[in-house]
Amino acid sequence: MAALSLRGVVKRYGFGKSAQQVVHGVDAEFDDGEFIVIVGPSGCGKSTLLRMVAGLEEISAGQILFRNAKGERVVNDLEPAERDIAMVFQNYALYPHMSVYDNMAYGLKIAGLDKAEIRRRVDKAAAILELGTLLERRPRQLSGGQRQRVAMGRAIVRQPQVFLFDEPLSNLDAKLRAQTRLEIRRLHAELGITSLFVTHDQVEAMTLAQRMVVMNAGRIEQIGTPEAVYAEP
Ligand code: ADP
Ligand code: ADP
Repeated sequence: MAALSLRGVVKRYGFGKSAQQVVHGVDAEFDDGEFIVIVGPSGCGKSTLLRMVAGLEEISAGQILFRNAKGERVVNDLEPAERDIAMVFQNYALYPHMSVYDNMAYGLKIAGLDKAEIRRRVDKAAAILELGTLLERRPRQLSGGQRQRVAMGRAIVRQPQVFLFDEPLSNLDAKLRAQTRLEIRRLHAELGITSLFVTHDQVEAMTLAQRMVVMNAGRIEQIGTPEAVYAEP
């Protein structure tokens, strides 16, 4: 059963004569627990598509549907916080004045979860990401890789139905990129959360993708396993 469906999703920026359509009616179905990597040249609409799923951009036409055991719902008009998603960006956007623990707990506090439940979720995420000894530090006392792990921890504790990654590794050096790639793979193996991961890096796509979406000029050109996609002439 598809956990996430895109139906005729269109995005136009601007109005009237200056309007520019950048996503032209995308249809796709993503299965529960799938790791999907979206690739394509710069400016083809990858990030826009992801941001529409997140609710950070309005869609101009079409439908985005989330489906789980409770049923299905069209999320077009829902705010990001009302969608069952968590997003990891390339600039981790951690709160500089908060500890690692508070960075991970903050969203859950806002959502009104009780303290014990917050503690349980943050401890579990910290264990998975090997952040247990760093919980009292501030972001400036962390390496780039550790910061990226905190950003992932903040996403994990929400226990979302869908993870969205917008080029999360592109600010890391080659060694850290390789490490973090493997961490993301391990996380997905452990948690099995449906994931959409945008990148322009072929190695990332090959390492992470169960299926790849190849975009070009606002359209999906191909969807398939990495082997199938790279086997195309
Ligand atoms: P990608 O992520 O594949 O590099 P984007 O989704 O960022 O591509 O951009 C797709 C197209 O939409 C590009 O032509 C870009 O210039 C345009 N675009 C992106 N954001 C905006 C915006 N806020 N306003 C106007 N045009 C935008
Ligand atoms: P809250 O987010 O306020 O804790 P729920 O997550 O239980 O509440 O969802 C509120 C309503 O939306 C319920 O009627 C639930 O069945 C429905 N709902 C929540 N998530 C989904 C989903 N992914 N697909 C379909 N229906 C959902």
